[in-house]
Amino acid sequence: MSRNKSQRKALAALNYDLFQPEDLSPPAPATLYTTIRQHQSAAPAVSLSTVREVETGLPDTSELYRMFDRFNWLYFDGRLPRVKIEYSTRMSSAGSYTPQRRLIRIGRKYHQLFTDEIADTLKHEMIHIVHFRHGAAFKAEAVRVGASIRAKAHPSLKKPPKYIYTCPNCGREYPRQKRLRMASCGLCTSGRKFDPRYKLKLKLKKRHS
Ligand SMILES: [Zn+2]
Ligand SMILES: [Zn+2]
Repeated sequence: MSRNKSQRKALAALNYDLFQPEDLSPPAPATLYTTIRQHQSAAPAVSLSTVREVETGLPDTSELYRMFDRFNWLYFDGRLPRVKIEYSTRMSSAGSYTPQRRLIRIGRKYHQLFTDEIADTLKHEMIHIVHFRHGAAFKAEAVRVGASIRAKAHPSLKKPPKYIYTCPNCGREYPRQKRLRMASCGLCTSGRKFDPRYKLKLKLKKRHS
């Protein structure tokens, strides 16, 4: 049984409405359609164009929630729970999902470079509500809903390294975000096995990331 378009729209609108704190208790089944009708008559005309943030040109947060609802109905049969969505100014990645906080974060920096990717990122993070890791199940879902698995790279998104390691033999530097433990220089070590003679030494540790 498939719902027709207007019914689906009305339900999506209701779903959106229920998210408002004052409407948290679901209506009794008998009043469901009354509520939908009330919502339709009471709601101000929503412009079809995307509401954008003034400074960044990105969709504002309420638009992100609308996109979430749209994708939820389009791809997940409306079954995904509503989660919080916010922009992150500090994050250099495209997006993240934190299950403990039921929070999707959308990276501002990333999407100022790749404005058209916002829907892609949101879909990707929505899959994370169900599949935490990028495993086979995640990948199958990504294909199904048309979301990327990896975000794009851009030089301006590179974080300064937290650690810089050097080779005691050739002096080559290895800037890294994470600590290296048993690592030897890739140039001096033959093969892929760790060689203690060329063990990388920590040269610099940044105090602030
Ligand atoms: Zn991911
Ligand atoms: Zn070396």
